[in-house]
Amino acid sequence: MAGEFELIGRFFKRPAERVDVLLGVGDDCALLAVPPGQQLAVSLDTLVAGRHFPDSTPPACLAAKAVAVNLSDLAAMGAQPAWMTLALTLPAYDEPWLTAFSASLFQSLDAVGVALVGGDTTRGPLCLTLQAHGFVEPGLALRRAAARPGELIVVSGTLGDAGLGLALALGQRQAAEPQRSYLLQRLNRPTARVGLGRALRGISRCAIDISDGLAQDLSHILAASGVGARLDLEALPLSAALRAEATMAEALPWALAAGDDYELCFTVPAAQASVLPELAAQSGVALTVVGQIEAEPGLRLRLHGQAYALERAGYQHFESP
Ligand code: ADP
Ligand code: MG
Repeated sequence: MAGEFELIGRFFKRPAERVDVLLGVGDDCALLAVPPGQQLAVSLDTLVAGRHFPDSTPPACLAAKAVAVNLSDLAAMGAQPAWMTLALTLPAYDEPWLTAFSASLFQSLDAVGVALVGGDTTRGPLCLTLQAHGFVEPGLALRRAAARPGELIVVSGTLGDAGLGLALALGQRQAAEPQRSYLLQRLNRPTARVGLGRALRGISRCAIDISDGLAQDLSHILAASGVGARLDLEALPLSAALRAEATMAEALPWALAAGDDYELCFTVPAAQASVLPELAAQSGVALTVVGQIEAEPGLRLRLHGQAYALERAGYQHFESP
């Protein structure tokens, strides 16, 4: 059986692929050069087997998802991804698993020009932590605390797909093809909206990525900004697959509270609404106005003008049952 260092060398070490990586995997630390005039944006996410993903999730999906989840945080700040580190805990040296995981990891990183610069490898229950590092110009990062009354609330892509996708993955629901494949793809291989986040610099000052459901993630913006909001639920963008496989009554709670969609929610001054179509075309993702920031604190959900009651706001790890 191969040891830890052979494992690292075989599956996670590659020649340096970026000039700002002065020293990558193999020493006690990586040595990295932040470009002059840029700030370093850093974010870390852990995925635990049986908690964040079903144990049966194929390793290729897991790697792709872990990368996307991390890139999504950089996207939500308007940062340009540069480097990642990986802490991997594995129950055993499983060569086919590692081969598929490593290939998918590097494929996902190569797609955005990100270098894996270090990490840690340990034995234990399957768990992976990725840390993403990116660059953003001083003053241009998209902040949760920057929403102002009157601004429009915009979301990218479609919401709720991963909610139904998870029910499919867990065998709690059935769906016809091609919807089933599409919804599972949205769950297992979300697309981080990196290009959109970059394009928002100078247009928006406030964004968050939707990892725990729009209601909860937007509430973080509201709390940080000291404002409230109205959401018009009939405007929520739902995919054709979700609409084909679920009723509106089922789809709305998924869209608001299921999480795992990794779309961006951002605010723009109402006067900027006219730039949204061009921004959408340029970043290759639909943009939909779903509500408005208001001075009165709290999140008000409306469906065709009527108050809408959401039973569960979104996923929280330490919530009492
Ligand atoms: P140390 O004991 O000094 O912390 P490690 O044995 O943990 O060193 O790691 C050796 C080298 O391999 C370091 O450069 C570390 O960043 C890198 N490394 C360890 N595990 C991984 C991994 N899963 N992916 C990428 N790099 C890794
Ligand atoms: Mg170590």
